[in-house]
Amino acid sequence: MELRDPGRLTMYLCGPTVYDLPHIGHGRQMLVWDMARRWFSFRGLEVRFVSNITDIDDNIINRATREGTSENEVALRYEREWFSAMGALGAADPDDVPHATQYVEEMIELISRLLEDDVAYRTSDGIYFDVSRVPDYGLLAGQPLESLRAGARVEANDDKRSPLDFALWKNAKTGEPSWSAPFGEGRPGWHTECVVMSLGLLGEGFDLHCGGFDLKFPHHENERAQALADGRAFARHWAHHGWVMVGEEKMSKSLGNFTSLTDLLERTDARAYRLLVLRSHYRSPIEVTPETIADAERALSRLDALARRFDLAALCDEHIEVASDHPWDETTGPILDEFAHLLDDDLNTPLAIALLFDTLSSANAAADRGDYEEGSRLAGAVNVLFASLGLALDGLRATIDAESAALVAAREGARARRDWAESDRLRDELVARGWVVEDSATGTFIRR
Ligand SMILES: [Zn+2]
Repeated sequence: MELRDPGRLTMYLCGPTVYDLPHIGHGRQMLVWDMARRWFSFRGLEVRFVSNITDIDDNIINRATREGTSENEVALRYEREWFSAMGALGAADPDDVPHATQYVEEMIELISRLLEDDVAYRTSDGIYFDVSRVPDYGLLAGQPLESLRAGARVEANDDKRSPLDFALWKNAKTGEPSWSAPFGEGRPGWHTECVVMSLGLLGEGFDLHCGGFDLKFPHHENERAQALADGRAFARHWAHHGWVMVGEEKMSKSLGNFTSLTDLLERTDARAYRLLVLRSHYRSPIEVTPETIADAERALSRLDALARRFDLAALCDEHIEVASDHPWDETTGPILDEFAHLLDDDLNTPLAIALLFDTLSSANAAADRGDYEEGSRLAGAVNVLFASLGLALDGLRATIDAESAALVAAREGARARRDWAESDRLRDELVARGWVVEDSATGTFIRR
Protein backbone atom coordinates (compact mmCIF):
# COMPACT_ATOMS: atom_id res chain seq x y z
CA MET A 1 0.00 0.00 0.00
CA GLU A 2 1.57 3.27 -1.11
CA LEU A 3 1.16 5.89 1.59
CA ARG A 4 0.62 9.62 1.24
CA ASP A 5 3.41 10.34 3.71
CA PRO A 6 5.99 7.58 4.10
CA GLY A 7 5.92 6.09 7.60
CA ARG A 8 2.50 7.48 8.40
CA LEU A 9 -0.86 5.89 7.82
CA THR A 10 -4.18 7.68 8.02
CA MET A 11 -7.33 5.59 8.19
CA TYR A 12 -11.03 6.37 8.40
CA LEU A 13 -13.68 3.87 9.41
CA CYS A 14 -17.40 4.52 9.00
CA GLY A 15 -18.63 4.21 12.55
CA PRO A 16 -22.05 3.42 13.96
CA THR A 17 -25.35 5.23 13.82
CA VAL A 18 -26.11 5.17 17.52
CA TYR A 19 -29.75 4.15 17.94
CA ASP A 20 -29.54 0.55 19.21
CA LEU A 21 -27.25 -1.97 20.90
CA PRO A 22 -24.31 -3.12 18.78
CA HIS A 23 -24.87 -6.54 17.23
CA ILE A 24 -22.40 -9.32 16.52
CA GLY A 25 -21.67 -7.91 13.05
CA HIS A 26 -20.63 -4.61 14.63
CA GLY A 27 -18.38 -6.63 16.91
CA ARG A 28 -16.64 -8.04 13.88
CA GLN A 29 -16.17 -4.54 12.49
CA MET A 30 -14.60 -3.40 15.78
CA LEU A 31 -12.27 -6.40 15.80
CA VAL A 32 -11.22 -6.33 12.13
CA TRP A 33 -10.20 -2.67 12.11
CA ASP A 34 -8.68 -2.85 15.58
CA MET A 35 -6.54 -5.69 14.24
CA ALA A 36 -5.54 -3.73 11.13
CA ARG A 37 -4.71 -0.59 13.09
CA ARG A 38 -2.67 -2.57 15.62
CA TRP A 39 -0.84 -4.43 12.88
CA PHE A 40 0.16 -1.25 11.03
CA SER A 41 1.42 0.21 14.31
CA PHE A 42 3.27 -3.00 15.14
CA ARG A 43 5.15 -2.63 11.83
CA GLY A 44 6.34 0.78 12.94
CA LEU A 45 3.93 3.05 11.08
CA GLU A 46 2.61 6.11 12.81
CA VAL A 47 -1.11 5.43 12.55
CA ARG A 48 -3.93 7.93 12.89
CA PHE A 49 -7.25 6.13 13.15
CA VAL A 50 -10.49 8.09 12.87
CA SER A 51 -13.92 6.56 13.28
CA ASN A 52 -17.07 8.66 13.40
CA ILE A 53 -20.34 8.55 15.27
CA THR A 54 -23.51 9.31 13.30
CA ASP A 55 -25.60 10.99 15.96
CA ILE A 56 -28.44 12.31 13.83
CA ASP A 57 -30.54 10.20 11.45
CA ASP A 58 -34.06 8.83 10.89
CA ASN A 59 -33.58 5.85 13.21
CA ILE A 60 -32.41 8.06 16.09
CA ILE A 61 -35.32 10.44 15.54
CA ASN A 62 -37.81 7.55 15.40
CA ARG A 63 -36.51 6.02 18.59
CA ALA A 64 -36.55 9.35 20.43
CA THR A 65 -40.17 9.91 19.32
CA ARG A 66 -41.20 6.40 20.35
CA GLU A 67 -39.61 6.78 23.78
CA GLY A 68 -40.66 10.38 24.32
CA THR A 69 -37.05 11.45 24.81
CA SER A 70 -34.56 13.58 22.88
CA GLU A 71 -32.39 12.53 19.94
CA ASN A 72 -29.39 13.59 21.95
CA GLU A 73 -30.36 11.28 24.83
CA VAL A 74 -30.78 8.31 22.47
CA ALA A 75 -27.48 8.99 20.71
CA LEU A 76 -25.53 9.39 23.96
CA ARG A 77 -26.98 6.22 25.44
CA TYR A 78 -26.09 4.04 22.45
CA GLU A 79 -22.71 5.66 21.95
CA ARG A 80 -21.90 4.61 25.52
CA GLU A 81 -23.10 1.08 24.71
CA TRP A 82 -20.90 1.05 21.62
CA PHE A 83 -17.75 2.01 23.50
CA SER A 84 -18.49 -0.34 26.35
CA ALA A 85 -18.77 -3.21 23.83
CA MET A 86 -15.49 -2.09 22.23
CA GLY A 87 -13.86 -2.11 25.64
CA ALA A 88 -15.21 -5.58 26.36
CA LEU A 89 -13.76 -6.78 23.05
CA GLY A 90 -10.38 -5.27 23.81
CA ALA A 91 -10.61 -2.91 20.83
CA ALA A 92 -8.57 0.25 21.44
CA ASP A 93 -10.32 3.62 21.09
CA PRO A 94 -9.85 5.49 17.80
CA ASP A 95 -7.54 8.51 17.88
CA ASP A 96 -10.47 10.72 16.90
CA VAL A 97 -14.20 10.14 17.16
CA PRO A 98 -15.90 12.95 15.21
CA HIS A 99 -19.65 13.37 15.72
CA ALA A 100 -21.77 14.31 12.73
CA THR A 101 -23.65 17.03 14.61
CA GLN A 102 -20.35 18.83 15.29
CA TYR A 103 -19.56 19.13 11.57
CA VAL A 104 -22.80 20.55 10.24
CA GLU A 105 -21.20 23.95 9.42
CA GLU A 106 -18.59 22.26 7.20
CA MET A 107 -21.31 20.17 5.55
CA ILE A 108 -23.33 23.29 4.79
CA GLU A 109 -20.24 24.85 3.18
CA LEU A 110 -19.69 21.77 1.01
CA ILE A 111 -23.33 21.66 -0.09
CA SER A 112 -23.22 25.40 -0.92
CA ARG A 113 -20.19 24.84 -3.17
CA LEU A 114 -21.88 21.88 -4.87
CA LEU A 115 -24.99 23.97 -5.49
CA GLU A 116 -22.88 26.77 -6.89
CA ASP A 117 -21.12 24.37 -9.25
CA ASP A 118 -24.46 22.95 -10.37
CA VAL A 119 -23.56 19.47 -9.14
CA ALA A 120 -26.38 19.70 -6.61
CA TYR A 121 -29.99 20.71 -7.13
CA ARG A 122 -33.13 21.41 -5.15
CA THR A 123 -36.16 19.17 -4.92
CA SER A 124 -39.34 19.50 -2.87
CA ASP A 125 -37.76 17.64 0.07
CA GLY A 126 -34.16 18.78 0.04
CA ILE A 127 -30.91 19.18 -1.88
CA TYR A 128 -29.73 16.30 -4.06
CA PHE A 129 -26.43 15.38 -5.70
CA ASP A 130 -26.46 14.82 -9.46
CA VAL A 131 -24.36 11.67 -9.96
CA SER A 132 -24.17 12.17 -13.73
CA ARG A 133 -21.76 15.02 -13.01
CA VAL A 134 -19.07 12.61 -11.80
CA PRO A 135 -17.61 10.90 -14.87
CA ASP A 136 -16.49 7.64 -13.24
CA TYR A 137 -19.39 7.31 -10.80
CA GLY A 138 -19.76 3.59 -10.05
CA LEU A 139 -16.01 2.92 -9.94
CA LEU A 140 -16.08 1.47 -6.42
CA ALA A 141 -19.12 -0.62 -7.13
CA GLY A 142 -17.27 -1.83 -10.21
CA GLN A 143 -20.34 -1.28 -12.37
CA PRO A 144 -21.13 1.28 -15.04
CA LEU A 145 -23.67 3.98 -14.31
CA GLU A 146 -26.32 2.38 -16.53
CA SER A 147 -26.47 -0.92 -14.66
CA LEU A 148 -26.47 0.84 -11.29
CA ARG A 149 -29.35 2.97 -12.51
CA ALA A 150 -31.28 -0.10 -13.59
CA GLY A 151 -30.80 -1.63 -10.14
CA ALA A 152 -31.60 1.46 -8.11
CA ARG A 153 -34.75 1.53 -6.06
CA VAL A 154 -37.54 3.70 -7.31
CA GLU A 155 -38.26 6.14 -4.55
CA ALA A 156 -41.19 8.32 -3.63
CA ASN A 157 -39.50 11.56 -4.64
CA ASP A 158 -40.10 12.09 -8.38
CA ASP A 159 -38.22 15.40 -8.44
CA LYS A 160 -34.99 13.45 -8.51
CA ARG A 161 -33.29 13.54 -11.90
CA SER A 162 -31.99 10.01 -11.48
CA PRO A 163 -32.85 7.28 -8.96
CA LEU A 164 -29.11 7.22 -8.10
CA ASP A 165 -29.04 10.86 -7.03
CA PHE A 166 -28.79 11.12 -3.26
CA ALA A 167 -29.82 13.58 -0.56
CA LEU A 168 -27.19 16.02 0.67
CA TRP A 169 -29.67 17.93 2.79
CA LYS A 170 -33.12 17.01 4.03
CA ASN A 171 -35.62 19.81 4.55
CA ALA A 172 -36.69 20.35 8.14
CA LYS A 173 -39.82 18.59 9.35
CA THR A 174 -41.86 19.64 12.36
CA GLY A 175 -40.51 18.19 15.57
CA GLU A 176 -37.19 17.05 14.08
CA PRO A 177 -33.80 18.57 14.89
CA SER A 178 -32.65 20.97 12.19
CA TRP A 179 -29.96 23.51 11.37
CA SER A 180 -30.19 26.77 9.41
CA ALA A 181 -28.46 26.93 6.07
CA PRO A 182 -28.49 29.46 3.24
CA PHE A 183 -30.46 26.92 1.21
CA GLY A 184 -33.05 26.31 3.94
CA GLU A 185 -33.58 24.81 7.35
CA GLY A 186 -32.84 21.08 7.55
CA ARG A 187 -30.33 18.37 8.39
CA PRO A 188 -27.48 16.74 6.47
CA GLY A 189 -27.62 13.43 4.62
CA TRP A 190 -25.47 10.55 5.84
CA HIS A 191 -23.13 10.44 2.83
CA THR A 192 -22.18 14.07 3.38
CA GLU A 193 -21.19 13.49 7.00
CA CYS A 194 -18.40 11.03 6.29
CA VAL A 195 -16.80 12.90 3.40
CA VAL A 196 -16.61 16.08 5.47
CA MET A 197 -15.30 14.41 8.63
CA SER A 198 -12.72 12.21 6.90
CA LEU A 199 -11.27 15.03 4.79
CA GLY A 200 -11.57 17.47 7.68
CA LEU A 201 -9.50 15.36 10.06
CA LEU A 202 -7.20 13.41 7.74
CA GLY A 203 -6.84 15.77 4.79
CA GLU A 204 -6.91 15.19 1.06
CA GLY A 205 -5.66 11.89 -0.29
CA PHE A 206 -5.74 10.13 3.09
CA ASP A 207 -4.56 6.55 2.94
CA LEU A 208 -7.28 4.09 3.80
CA HIS A 209 -11.06 4.24 3.97
CA CYS A 210 -12.66 1.23 5.63
CA GLY A 211 -16.14 -0.01 6.32
CA GLY A 212 -18.54 -2.88 5.89
CA PHE A 213 -18.94 -4.49 2.48
CA ASP A 214 -22.53 -3.22 2.37
CA LEU A 215 -21.23 0.39 2.50
CA LYS A 216 -19.24 0.07 -0.70
CA PHE A 217 -22.27 1.13 -2.66
CA PRO A 218 -23.86 3.55 -2.42
CA HIS A 219 -22.37 5.09 0.78
CA HIS A 220 -18.69 5.04 -0.13
CA GLU A 221 -19.32 5.73 -3.81
CA ASN A 222 -21.34 8.78 -2.78
CA GLU A 223 -18.67 10.04 -0.36
CA ARG A 224 -16.13 9.77 -3.12
CA ALA A 225 -18.41 11.45 -5.68
CA GLN A 226 -18.83 14.50 -3.43
CA ALA A 227 -15.08 14.82 -2.84
CA LEU A 228 -14.32 14.60 -6.55
CA ALA A 229 -17.07 17.05 -7.47
CA ASP A 230 -15.58 19.42 -4.87
CA GLY A 231 -12.20 19.09 -6.58
CA ARG A 232 -10.57 17.21 -3.71
CA ALA A 233 -8.53 13.99 -3.74
CA PHE A 234 -10.28 11.36 -1.67
CA ALA A 235 -9.10 8.06 -0.10
CA ARG A 236 -6.16 6.40 -1.84
CA HIS A 237 -7.23 2.88 -0.80
CA TRP A 238 -10.45 1.19 0.23
CA ALA A 239 -11.05 -1.91 2.32
CA HIS A 240 -14.39 -3.54 3.12
CA HIS A 241 -15.05 -6.25 5.65
CA GLY A 242 -17.49 -9.12 5.12
CA TRP A 243 -20.58 -9.88 7.08
CA VAL A 244 -21.45 -12.17 9.89
CA MET A 245 -23.77 -15.08 9.23
CA VAL A 246 -25.80 -16.66 11.96
CA GLY A 247 -26.85 -19.87 10.34
CA GLU A 248 -27.08 -19.09 6.63
CA GLU A 249 -28.34 -15.54 6.75
CA LYS A 250 -26.57 -12.22 6.89
CA MET A 251 -26.55 -10.84 10.41
CA SER A 252 -28.78 -7.84 10.48
CA LYS A 253 -31.67 -6.41 12.35
CA SER A 254 -33.91 -6.22 9.35
CA LEU A 255 -33.78 -10.00 8.97
CA GLY A 256 -34.93 -10.38 12.56
CA ASN A 257 -31.91 -12.42 13.65
CA PHE A 258 -30.51 -9.62 15.75
CA THR A 259 -28.42 -10.93 18.61
CA SER A 260 -26.70 -8.38 20.74
CA LEU A 261 -22.99 -8.43 21.16
CA THR A 262 -23.60 -8.21 24.89
CA ASP A 263 -25.35 -11.60 24.76
CA LEU A 264 -22.37 -13.13 23.03
CA LEU A 265 -19.86 -11.59 25.41
CA GLU A 266 -21.81 -12.87 28.40
CA ARG A 267 -21.60 -16.36 27.01
CA THR A 268 -17.96 -16.48 25.99
CA ASP A 269 -14.51 -14.99 26.48
CA ALA A 270 -14.27 -11.96 24.17
CA ARG A 271 -10.90 -13.27 23.02
CA ALA A 272 -12.62 -16.33 21.55
CA TYR A 273 -14.66 -14.05 19.29
CA ARG A 274 -11.49 -12.18 18.29
CA LEU A 275 -9.83 -15.47 17.43
CA LEU A 276 -12.86 -16.56 15.40
CA VAL A 277 -12.73 -13.28 13.49
CA LEU A 278 -8.98 -13.51 12.90
CA ARG A 279 -9.18 -17.05 11.57
CA SER A 280 -11.19 -15.77 8.59
CA HIS A 281 -10.06 -13.28 6.02
CA TYR A 282 -11.61 -9.88 6.77
CA ARG A 283 -13.39 -9.81 3.42
CA SER A 284 -14.99 -13.25 3.79
CA PRO A 285 -18.27 -13.84 5.55
CA ILE A 286 -17.99 -15.56 8.92
CA GLU A 287 -20.44 -17.78 10.71
CA VAL A 288 -21.09 -17.22 14.38
CA THR A 289 -22.84 -20.25 15.83
CA PRO A 290 -22.43 -22.17 19.11
CA GLU A 291 -20.20 -24.59 17.16
CA THR A 292 -17.83 -21.99 15.68
CA ILE A 293 -17.61 -20.24 19.06
CA ALA A 294 -16.86 -23.53 20.84
CA ASP A 295 -14.17 -24.26 18.27
CA ALA A 296 -12.58 -20.86 18.88
CA GLU A 297 -12.76 -21.44 22.65
CA ARG A 298 -10.87 -24.72 22.27
CA ALA A 299 -8.17 -23.00 20.20
CA LEU A 300 -7.97 -20.21 22.76
CA SER A 301 -7.50 -22.69 25.59
CA ARG A 302 -4.46 -24.09 23.71
CA LEU A 303 -3.03 -20.57 23.65
CA ASP A 304 -3.66 -20.01 27.34
CA ALA A 305 -2.13 -23.42 28.11
CA LEU A 306 0.99 -22.30 26.23
CA ALA A 307 1.08 -19.10 28.29
CA ARG A 308 0.90 -21.18 31.49
CA ARG A 309 3.53 -23.68 30.41
CA PHE A 310 6.06 -20.99 29.49
CA ASP A 311 4.93 -18.38 31.98
CA LEU A 312 4.39 -15.79 29.24
CA ALA A 313 3.82 -12.14 30.10
CA ALA A 314 0.33 -10.79 29.45
CA LEU A 315 0.55 -8.28 26.57
CA CYS A 316 -1.64 -5.79 24.67
CA ASP A 317 -5.13 -5.00 25.97
CA GLU A 318 -5.22 -1.20 25.69
CA HIS A 319 -1.53 -1.06 24.83
CA ILE A 320 -0.64 -1.24 21.14
CA GLU A 321 2.48 -3.35 20.66
CA VAL A 322 5.37 -2.39 18.37
CA ALA A 323 7.68 -5.05 16.89
CA SER A 324 10.86 -3.12 17.62
CA ASP A 325 10.08 -3.13 21.36
CA HIS A 326 10.60 -6.90 21.44
CA PRO A 327 13.77 -8.95 20.94
CA TRP A 328 14.00 -11.03 17.75
CA ASP A 329 16.71 -13.62 17.25
CA GLU A 330 17.72 -16.28 14.71
CA THR A 331 14.82 -18.50 15.84
CA THR A 332 12.08 -15.90 16.13
CA GLY A 333 13.17 -13.38 13.47
CA PRO A 334 12.23 -15.66 10.55
CA ILE A 335 8.82 -16.30 12.17
CA LEU A 336 8.22 -12.56 12.37
CA ASP A 337 9.26 -12.21 8.71
CA GLU A 338 6.92 -14.95 7.53
CA PHE A 339 4.07 -13.63 9.66
CA ALA A 340 4.60 -10.11 8.29
CA HIS A 341 4.80 -11.43 4.74
CA LEU A 342 1.35 -13.04 5.16
CA LEU A 343 -0.25 -9.99 6.74
CA ASP A 344 1.26 -7.64 4.19
CA ASP A 345 -0.70 -9.62 1.61
CA ASP A 346 -4.08 -7.92 2.21
CA LEU A 347 -4.08 -8.84 5.90
CA ASN A 348 -4.12 -12.60 5.42
CA THR A 349 -4.89 -13.40 9.05
CA PRO A 350 -6.09 -17.00 8.47
CA LEU A 351 -2.66 -18.09 7.22
CA ALA A 352 -0.87 -15.93 9.77
CA ILE A 353 -2.86 -17.50 12.63
CA ALA A 354 -2.19 -20.99 11.21
CA LEU A 355 1.54 -20.15 11.29
CA LEU A 356 1.25 -19.19 14.96
CA PHE A 357 -0.51 -22.44 15.84
CA ASP A 358 2.27 -24.37 14.04
CA THR A 359 4.79 -22.40 16.07
CA LEU A 360 2.84 -23.23 19.24
CA SER A 361 3.16 -26.95 18.39
CA SER A 362 6.90 -26.52 17.79
CA ALA A 363 7.27 -24.75 21.14
CA ASN A 364 5.53 -27.59 22.98
CA ALA A 365 7.52 -30.20 21.05
CA ALA A 366 10.80 -28.48 21.96
CA ALA A 367 9.88 -28.43 25.65
CA ASP A 368 8.71 -32.06 25.46
CA ARG A 369 12.13 -33.13 24.26
CA GLY A 370 13.78 -31.21 27.06
CA ASP A 371 14.74 -28.02 25.22
CA TYR A 372 12.70 -25.65 27.36
CA GLU A 373 14.76 -22.66 26.29
CA GLU A 374 14.02 -23.15 22.59
CA GLY A 375 10.36 -23.77 23.44
CA SER A 376 10.32 -20.61 25.47
CA ARG A 377 11.71 -18.51 22.61
CA LEU A 378 9.09 -19.88 20.20
CA ALA A 379 6.29 -19.43 22.73
CA GLY A 380 7.43 -15.84 23.31
CA ALA A 381 7.15 -15.13 19.58
CA VAL A 382 3.63 -16.62 19.52
CA ASN A 383 2.71 -14.37 22.44
CA VAL A 384 4.02 -11.18 20.85
CA LEU A 385 2.61 -11.92 17.40
CA PHE A 386 -0.86 -12.63 18.78
CA ALA A 387 -0.58 -9.38 20.71
CA SER A 388 0.29 -7.59 17.46
CA LEU A 389 -3.27 -8.43 16.35
CA GLY A 390 -4.79 -7.52 19.70
CA LEU A 391 -5.17 -11.01 21.14
CA ALA A 392 -3.71 -11.38 24.64
CA LEU A 393 -2.67 -14.84 25.78
CA ASP A 394 -3.44 -15.31 29.40
CA GLY A 395 -2.01 -18.11 31.45
CA LEU A 396 -4.10 -17.13 34.44
CA ARG A 397 -7.40 -17.06 32.63
CA ALA A 398 -9.03 -20.10 31.18
CA THR A 399 -12.03 -19.92 28.93
CA ILE A 400 -14.75 -20.62 31.45
CA ASP A 401 -18.12 -21.77 30.16
CA ALA A 402 -21.27 -20.25 31.63
CA GLU A 403 -22.26 -23.36 33.63
CA SER A 404 -18.85 -23.63 35.26
CA ALA A 405 -18.90 -19.92 36.01
CA ALA A 406 -22.30 -20.40 37.68
CA LEU A 407 -20.88 -23.27 39.79
CA VAL A 408 -17.99 -21.04 40.89
CA ALA A 409 -20.42 -18.30 41.86
CA ALA A 410 -22.61 -20.79 43.75
CA ARG A 411 -19.55 -22.15 45.53
CA GLU A 412 -18.44 -18.68 46.59
CA GLY A 413 -21.93 -18.17 47.97
CA ALA A 414 -21.75 -21.45 49.90
CA ARG A 415 -18.34 -20.52 51.34
CA ALA A 416 -19.65 -17.12 52.41
CA ARG A 417 -22.47 -18.92 54.22
CA ARG A 418 -19.93 -21.35 55.69
CA ASP A 419 -21.90 -24.18 54.14
CA TRP A 420 -18.87 -26.42 53.76
CA ALA A 421 -20.81 -29.51 52.65
CA GLU A 422 -22.33 -27.64 49.70
CA SER A 423 -19.01 -25.97 48.96
CA ASP A 424 -17.30 -29.39 48.79
CA ARG A 425 -20.05 -30.81 46.62
CA LEU A 426 -19.65 -27.91 44.15
CA ARG A 427 -15.87 -28.33 44.17
CA ASP A 428 -16.32 -32.00 43.22
CA GLU A 429 -18.67 -31.03 40.43
CA LEU A 430 -16.10 -28.56 39.03
CA VAL A 431 -13.31 -31.13 39.31
CA ALA A 432 -15.51 -33.62 37.47
CA ARG A 433 -15.78 -31.02 34.70
CA GLY A 434 -12.00 -31.02 34.39
CA TRP A 435 -11.18 -27.88 36.41
CA VAL A 436 -8.48 -27.38 38.99
CA VAL A 437 -10.12 -25.40 41.80
CA GLU A 438 -8.11 -22.91 43.83
CA ASP A 439 -9.38 -20.93 46.79
CA SER A 440 -7.75 -17.71 47.85
CA ALA A 441 -8.54 -14.77 50.09
CA THR A 442 -10.16 -12.95 47.16
CA GLY A 443 -12.32 -15.82 45.93
CA THR A 444 -12.37 -19.07 44.04
CA PHE A 445 -10.45 -19.50 40.80
CA ILE A 446 -10.62 -22.36 38.38
CA ARG A 447 -8.18 -23.37 35.68
CA ARG A 448 -7.60 -26.34 33.40
ZN1 LIG B 1 -19.36 6.64 6.29
